[in-house]
Order: sequence, then C-alpha cells, then structure tokens
Amino acid sequence: MVESSNELMDKLVALCKRRGFIFQSSEIYGGIGGFWDYGPLGVELKRNIKNAWWEDIVRKHDNIVGLDCSIIMNPRVWVASGHVGGFSDPMVDCKQCKARFREDQLCAVRFVGGNNSVLHEACVEGAWGEGEQAALAILEATANSKIRRRVEQARKAGKLSIDGPFTPADRPGQCKCPKCGGELTEAREFNLMLQTHVGAMQGSSSLAYLRPETAQGIFANYKNVLDTGRMKLPFGIAQIGKSFRNEINPRNFTFRSREFEQMELEFFCHSNEAEKWYEYWRDARFQWYVDHGLQSSRLRLRNHEPDEMAHYAKSCADVEYEFPFGVSELEGIANRTDFDLKAHQEHSGRDLTYFDDEAWERDGDKFSAENFDGDKKAAQQAAKQAKQGPPYRFTPHVIEPSGGVDRAMLAFLCEAYCEDEAPDENGVMQKRVVMKLHPRLAPIKAAVFPLVKKDNMPEIARKICDELKAAGISSFYDQTGAVGRRYRRQDEVGTPFCITVDGQTLEDQTVTVRDRDTLAQERIPTAGAVDYVRRRICL
Ligand code: ATP
Repeated sequence: MVESSNELMDKLVALCKRRGFIFQSSEIYGGIGGFWDYGPLGVELKRNIKNAWWEDIVRKHDNIVGLDCSIIMNPRVWVASGHVGGFSDPMVDCKQCKARFREDQLCAVRFVGGNNSVLHEACVEGAWGEGEQAALAILEATANSKIRRRVEQARKAGKLSIDGPFTPADRPGQCKCPKCGGELTEAREFNLMLQTHVGAMQGSSSLAYLRPETAQGIFANYKNVLDTGRMKLPFGIAQIGKSFRNEINPRNFTFRSREFEQMELEFFCHSNEAEKWYEYWRDARFQWYVDHGLQSSRLRLRNHEPDEMAHYAKSCADVEYEFPFGVSELEGIANRTDFDLKAHQEHSGRDLTYFDDEAWERDGDKFSAENFDGDKKAAQQAAKQAKQGPPYRFTPHVIEPSGGVDRAMLAFLCEAYCEDEAPDENGVMQKRVVMKLHPRLAPIKAAVFPLVKKDNMPEIARKICDELKAAGISSFYDQTGAVGRRYRRQDEVGTPFCITVDGQTLEDQTVTVRDRDTLAQERIPTAGAVDYVRRRICL
C-alpha cells in the first residue's frame, strides 16, 4: 500500500522518469517550467490513449469526421472566440519575492484564541474548499505540532475562532505570499495566450497566437467540412492536437502544463435536440474513462451549477478524477448553443448557417403554385423567402466534449500504480510495483522471455516476439537476468502478459503465459501465442 497522496505522487514521478514515461523538458539545461517530454514508453501510452479516443469517437461513428488544423491561425479567430478579450486569469504578485499566483487559487486562514491572540495564520495555494474542515486541513499542512497543540487547547477551552478560508478577492490586502510571507499586489488580469510573430517584421500586424484550444480551428473549418463532406445534422468534427496556455503556476506534474494536447469533439445538431445530445455525450464520455480503467470511486461526473457556467453555455459537466493532489477536471462537456458559429459568422462575415434540404424536400409541395392560387411568381417568392430562415435555414447548436490527453494519461497512471507482493524465483514473497494499465492502453502488450539462454529457447522466444510484432501487437524480447526480475521489470511498466519459453516448450510445444494482475500462469500452445494475446487484449 502507498501510505500518503504525496508519497504516491513522488513515487509515480520517479517511476515515470526511471522507466522512460515522462522527462522534464530540456532537463540537461535545468528544465523549463510547464513543459514535459514523453519518453519511449510514455509516447506509446499517450499514442494508445489518442488512438483509443480516435477509434471510439471518429472511426466508430458514421457521422463524425476528423480534422487537423494549424496551430497558428489568423488572430481574428481569437478575437471572435473571445480569447483576446477574455481569456485571462486574475493574478496577484508578491512585492517581495516577485512570485505570481492566480488570485482564485490562494487560500488564507487565521486561528484566533483567547484575548484575540493570533495562534496561527497561513496562506496556501490550491483549491482547499470551504468551511472548518478546509481550515483545519490548511492548519495541518502549515503548522508545526506545537502550534497545532495550542490551537487544540484553545478549541477545548471554547476560545477558538477560525477566520477563513478566504481568498485575496474576499479580503484584499489580507493574504500574504505563500512562499515568503511578503505583501501581495492587487489582482491584475493576465492573458493566457502565448504570443509569437509571423513573418520577418515584428509589429502589431505580425502578432499571432499559439492556439489555447483546438476547438476554434474546428469552428473556423465548419463550413469547409460541411460542404466537402456533404454532412447532415447531427454530425461531429473531431480533432486531437497541441494547445498552449501561459499558465501562471504550472504544477502537479503534467496536470497543468503550458504545452499540452487536447482531444476535442464539436458535435453539431438542431437546437431541439441539443439537450438530448448533451446528455448522450456527457454520459458516453464518463463511461469511456470507466471502460479504460478508471473504475474506482475516484472518478466523478459533476454537473455545473448555473452560476458556474459560461454565459453562452446551457449545460455543462466535468468528468473529474481524485488525483493525489486533489479532485480536478479531466474533461468538460458543454452545450455551447449556437454561440461559437454565430460569433465566427459575425466576425468573418461568412454565412455559417445550415440548410436542411431534407426538411425542404419534405415540405417542398407547400410552395407549389397550386397553394398560391396558381400564381407561380408568388410561390417562387414565398419559397425563396422561406429558404432563408427556420425551419429550413438555421445556425446549428453544438455540444463539446473537451478533454486533455496529458491529464487523461496522468489519471490512468495514478489509477494504475499499485504495490503488492509477488513470489520471486525461489518462491519468496517480494514487494512489487505494478502498473495495472488497461491492456488497450499498455505501452507493451506482451513480453517474451527464454527461461535460459541455451537449448534453442532464445530462438523460439524471438520467433514468438517477431510474430506478435508482425500482428501489430507491441512486444518486447528480454533474455537478461533472472526470470523473476524480468517479470518485475514488465510489471512496473504495465505489460499485461509475459510469455516464457522453458524446458517443457522443447518437449510439447507449449509456453507459459503469466497474467500481470492475477499472477496466474497457464500453458498454451506456442503456435497459438499471437491469437491468445490478441483475444485477451481485445484488439
Ligand atoms: P482548468 O480549469 O483546469 O484550467 P479549463 O476548464 O480551463 O481547465 P478547458 O478550457 O475546458 O480547461 O480545456 C479542456 C481540457 O483541456 C481540460 O479538461 C483539460 O483536460 C485540458 N487542459 C486545459 N488546460 C490544461 C493545461 N494547462 N494542462 C494540461 N491540460 C489542460
């Protein structure tokens, strides 16, 4: 068992580095805050997550297509989307040590005893929640045992009053820098978009932005896809790609990065059906995480309160995961109404409406001359006018499930990390670290070992490994060290199956397959190894 949340996170970060999942970006130069590199196993895991999403969202739906937009777009896109004007966080700076914090992520408390004596005060970063419980959690995290004892004594004597938690916005001037205790500035808006310049000259006309989300590229291409793909409502456009945000305090490993990947779907539908599709995608997206291994009570679906939602959103929910550092968003699902298409229509001057030709065909007779006392011209005019508005021409509404690849990967890693015991080659129980990753996501699906490096065992094992690879199953051959250690190396990176060629293989052409999670071993025909693994990982 892993004892505490911090300990789990430390162990996970260490494992990710040791086994080549995630490295700090440009580490040999001291790194750069908020940027991460994915190593040989990390890139496979990440690719498997993206492939699973793409398969399930795009390839399995007739009415959803993919897109891959440029990262830098005409800056007018970001004016229309509201990011130039409003994509900002209120920030406060420490006047002393110059550290910068998001105002809404600072939390202060004060514990006051008899005679109004301040027993303890602290300001910390993070979402600690509200009420006495949150205040006591901050006390626990920031005060030494002597202070905690004094607070407890004051409480027992009925003399304790707890002031907070409060944020700098609640009480300007009353929160101090969590790093050095210095005074904080008033809050200022800080735009999160990363800027660059396009072309040889640098000036306001060359200013461009690295996209802060992939969604706007979908809206900007909505008409192209609609026309070229002859799409009919309801239909979706999906995209996976890099996004950039100049986050003030990138932290919690890859959870809040400045460069990250998103998996976004914009699902366009008629306004009458928007709530139905919102509920469909909200539930489907939650289930997707369950199906890929986040089965515990750590996964939640939280519907937003009306005062939490953006002004244009009709409904909104977050898929949340209880990370070791707190409960945080993995994916947001929103009914964004017709806000985005209307905003781009207005700013670009292009017609982004949808013409429902099926409804028109159905109703076409209504505009025949007979219904206009034989007046052909009047009928044509009425038809022309009718085509311009509802129910035939309208702006579709959109449902947006928007998830982060890096956050999903971090949640899968946190959930998968387990410590238990397994017998070594002498039957003695040893501590083992095992990543119980879903087989669809595991970077390596099967490892193949010869028990010893002789008697043709390496050749047979290599052949099995080659056959697995030829079948598109990522596999790993290992002949170094005791077989127990080889098993443990694979457990630690989440390989679901280890196949061992041993003495019996030479006699009856069978091999042992060991299951990572149950540790059960079974013998299967050597020739059936590929089919066995394929069946067990449901490829
Ligand atoms: P948060 O409130 O945590 O900053 P958000 O609500 O701004 O997130 P969205 O704009 O809804 O996030 O982005 C959709 C998804 O993109 C998020 O659910 C998350 O998975 C991912 N994402 C957003 N910002 C980051 C980031 N800085 N690092 C990693 N992933 C991110």
